[in-house]
Formats: sequence, structure tokens, C-alpha cells
Amino acid sequence: MPAHDVLIIGAGLAGQRAALAAADAGASVAILSKVHPVRSHSVAAAGGINAALNPEDSWESHAFDTVKGSDYLGDQDAIEIMCREAPDEILWLEHAGVTFHRSPTGHLGTRAFGGASQARTYYVADITGQAILHVLYEQLMKHHETVDRYEEWFTTTLLQDDAGNCVGCVARDIRTGALEVFNAKSVILASGGAGQAFKPTTNALICTGDGIAQAYRIGAPLMDMEMIQYHPTTLAENGFLITEGARGEGAHLYNALGERFMEKYAPNKLELASRDVVSRAEQTEINEGRGFPDGTIALDITRVPRKRTLEALREIVNIGKDFAGVDITREPIHIKPGMHYIMGGVKTDFDGQTPIAGLYAAGEVACVSVHGGNRLGANSLLDTLIFGRRSGEHAAQRARGIATPRSPVSVLHDAQGEIDEILNRPTGGRRVSEIKNELGETMNRYVAVYRDAEGLATALEIVQRLKQEAPNAAIDDKGTVFNQDVLAAIELGYMLDVAEAIVVAAQERRESRGAQFRTDFPERNDEDWLHHITVSLNGDGPALGTAPVTITQWQPQARTY
Ligand SMILES: Cc1cc2nc3c(=O)[nH]c(=O)nc-3n(C[C@H](O)[C@H](O)[C@H](O)COP(=O)(O)OP(=O)(O)OC[C@H]3O[C@@H](n4cnc5c(N)ncnc54)[C@H](O)[C@@H]3O)c2cc1C
Repeated sequence: MPAHDVLIIGAGLAGQRAALAAADAGASVAILSKVHPVRSHSVAAAGGINAALNPEDSWESHAFDTVKGSDYLGDQDAIEIMCREAPDEILWLEHAGVTFHRSPTGHLGTRAFGGASQARTYYVADITGQAILHVLYEQLMKHHETVDRYEEWFTTTLLQDDAGNCVGCVARDIRTGALEVFNAKSVILASGGAGQAFKPTTNALICTGDGIAQAYRIGAPLMDMEMIQYHPTTLAENGFLITEGARGEGAHLYNALGERFMEKYAPNKLELASRDVVSRAEQTEINEGRGFPDGTIALDITRVPRKRTLEALREIVNIGKDFAGVDITREPIHIKPGMHYIMGGVKTDFDGQTPIAGLYAAGEVACVSVHGGNRLGANSLLDTLIFGRRSGEHAAQRARGIATPRSPVSVLHDAQGEIDEILNRPTGGRRVSEIKNELGETMNRYVAVYRDAEGLATALEIVQRLKQEAPNAAIDDKGTVFNQDVLAAIELGYMLDVAEAIVVAAQERRESRGAQFRTDFPERNDEDWLHHITVSLNGDGPALGTAPVTITQWQPQARTY
């Protein structure tokens, strides 16, 4: 049984940053990922990362924009930490080797992003996530003596000792099918988001909410789960993202009548209002019959000089050509709002600690909450790095004071029993993929940009029926080598837990705030709803609770752009 001071589950930006911080603090570290680390979903991040680094900018301005973007649901103490620490983190990345864009004067260059009062997004063309992830991986390899990498290992269960401390996990070696117990003094979940519970989504196939569900199943509360971000510019058919960087570079949105409709909804910021505002505006245009027949509106990037598009937005030039048959340098591309990001997750403090001793969470799996009701574009990469680092440091420090736990071998037998149960299911029932599709389409229909009580009740009914069906979903592959069938069956269970938590929280919040717009409660109601909603597992089902919102210096105001 491998044993380490700090075990990190997930090797995207949050996980790798945590690993480096824990190793620098002297801990022995294991980092485990169900895909090769540089294939983690962070690799898809395109537009950039925010920091108030220019002399004319300030962390207070970044923090206020973030608070306003969150529709005052973000915790301001955590937001202050993130925005204060952002400039040093960018410089650390630069020194580690990230080739951020530079201006003609040789200074680090920025682009504009939605909801920001300054251009403060640092970027590497439209491959920022890839650039940072590869540099962190290089750094990780330098620490090979203290950091053990378990690549293509799938965590199935978190382990607790008799006192309730989280002491490790059980994981399956995807290449061989072998199960192993990992013991650790501190465990950091960095396993990313849950976009695959919706269809379509901008998220990769691996974003199945594993860590959110695993923490929930051992009693960790989830928070802000109702807050699901629909990104304004995704391809209708497959959910592919056209980065906000396009609007940052000057692209406009038009309806089918040729009107630049954002003038009506956000006269000051126009296309660069926050994402919830732009997505709602687009959906309203579509719902009221001013969209194109395929339920889309037009994003016109031809306004950006072609040379600049080819240099700064080259990935979406390729996406346009390959997946929509459109040359975005010459004609508008049709887009619509699409599921993109989950603001909620495992509730943590700003050192990543969850209420379960020994269990930390950072990145998209976590809810600190710095995004509240709506995340600003380019604040997620920042969140992963700041709170990944802080979690790694704190987890290493915690590990110094305690003995290495030893889990009983019985946990391995239990985990094997669960895998065997999946392998031995009789064939003939519904397929995992069918249930997953129904889940995704349901969430995308009823838990999207606009919601109401009736639709949410329908969604809950369907999700709960699918939860009954999932344990009987048959799989075809009974083998041990790269058995993705078994893993998909496990992931389906995670997505259903996450979906249920999202729907019950959306039902509970009877107001409109950030990404949650209830057509039956269209106003924000600070008197009754300026608090977080938490969801914890009680027996077999979700139990709702509340947590206060921390306000430091910015009192809630009407939110206009
Ligand atoms: C297309 C796209 C573009 C984006 N662009 C930007 C941007 O420009 N700027 C910005 O700020 N944000 C952006 N975002 C959001 C941002 O990329 C993500 O929120 C962030 O990268 C998440 O990082 P993470 O480290 O939390 O998780 P991930 O990068 O998703 O990593 C999760 C890790 O957990 C592992 N894992 C998961 N489950 C298990 C399991 N059961 N067992 C073992 N390992 C497991 C995975 O293998 C992976 O290593 C974008 C998102 C998308 C979808």
C-alpha cells in the first residue's frame, strides 16, 4: 500500500499546483489522475488568466469586479485573497517558463474579458491552459524524488478512519484493472468539474463530477450547486467553445435581424458584460424569435483584423473550420449559450480545508466561494492556482504533525466487490450511455439559462428515476485492461448525485441571482436569499442547509453593465 504525506487526486492545474506547493513545503506527495496529467481538462482553457498586474490597475478593482460578477454571492474574504495574490502568481508562472503574450514594448500584454473594468487577462494566444499545464508538468518532473505520479489511475472511493479523518483513497490502475489503497495524512481533491452531467457542454468527457460526488458521499457539504454557468458562445451542435477572448479582441454579437442586441441589455459593457448577462440576452433574443432558425445568433469576428485573429485566436479559427465549416476571419459564426462551468462544489475555506478533517479541495471541484452566482471569465485558472497552492501548503503543514494512517485490507475487498457487481450485471437493461444522454438532455432543458418550478420538478423526477435505473445499466466489456465501460458506469453514478444536488439547490433558491434565473421569481431578493445554499447527503438523499455570505467592503448594489 503506497503511503504519502499528501495525496492529490487530480492533475489539472489545481492538482499540479498543489503538488508543487506541498513538495516545496517538504512533504512526500502522490498525484493521481485518470488521464495523463497534460490531458487534464485544464488543457482546454483558452482565453487567459486574470491579475491586476499593470501599475494602473489594482487588486481592489479586480476584487470588486469579481464580487459584482458573482452577484454578491461570492465570499469577499476569499475573493480578496485571490485577487491580492494574483499578480505574484502570474510572475511565478512567467519565471517558471510560461510564455505569456508580450506587447510591442516587451511588457506582459493583456486582453479585455467580460465583466472586467480593466484589460487584465494575461494569455498565450488561445492556448493559455495548455501552456501553463505543460510548464507545471515540467516543474513536477523536477520533483520526481518527492512526488510520485500515478498516471491513468481512477479513484473510486475516499477512505476515512474511525474518527472520521480522510486518510486516503482506493484507486484502480486503468491499464491493468488492479485496485490499490493509497494511505495519506492529507488528501487534496483536485478532480475538476461536472460538465458532462449536461448535454451538450464545453467540458471534456472526463469532467464527470467524480470528486464532488466522492466528497458528498463521505459527508462533505456541497455549496452553490445551483449556480451553473452557461457560456455565451458555444457551437450549437456539439457545445465546442468559442473563447470569450474573441469578444475581448473586438467581436460583436448580432441577432438574425442584424441588430447588435447587447446595446439593449448592457449599454455600457455590451458584449463584454458578465457571462450570465450575455447568455440571458442571447437566450431572450432566441426565445422571442429574433434568432436564426437553428436557435442561434451570430458572433462576428471579422471585425478583428485578420492578422490578429490568426495570431491570437488561432485555435478557434481551426474549431470554426473543422466543426462548423466556417472561416471566422471572413464570415460570422453561429453560436448559442452552452453549459460551461460549475460555480458550486465541495465547500472549503480559503486554505482548501473541507469540514472533513484531512480532506481538502481546490479548483473546479471546490467552492471557496470566489465565483458566487457567476464566474468572471479568466478567474477560474486563477482560482485553480491560488487555492491549489494554498491547499498544498496547508496539507503539507498538517501532515507534519500526524502519523501515517494504515487502512485495513478490507477496504480493498469492499471496493473490488463494487467493481464485480458492475461486471456481473445481467445484460439487456438500458445502456450507461443512454442514461447519460437522458440525464444531459434533461439538465440542458430544465436547468439551463432560464428555470422555473415546474421544469425543475420534472428534472428532479427524471434524475431520481435515472438513479434507480443506473445500478442495473449493463456493460459489455468484462476485461481488466483499459476497461472504460466499468469506469463509465461508476462516473454515471457520480454525475447523477451531482445533478440531483444541482436541481434541489435550484428549486430551493426562489429568486434570480447570477446564473440562476427563475422566471417564476425574476428578481434578486437580498433580504431572503443573500446566503449560500448547501447540500449534504442525509441517508440516501440530499439535505439542504445554508451558510452565510462573507461581506468585507462591498455592500450589495443593483448590478448593471
Ligand atoms: C473549453 C474551456 C475553456 C476554458 N477557458 C478558460 C480560460 O481561458 N480561463 C479560465 O480561467 N478558465 C477557463 N476555463 C475553465 C477552466 O479551464 C477550468 O475550470 C479549470 O481548468 C479546472 O481545472 P482543475 O484543475 O480544477 O480540473 P481539471 O483540469 O479538469 O483536472 C481534473 C483532474 O482530475 C482528474 N480526475 C477526475 N476524476 C478522477 C478520478 N475519479 N480519479 C482520478 N483522477 C480523476 C483528471 O484526470 C484531471 O487530472 C475553460 C473551460 C473550458 C471547458
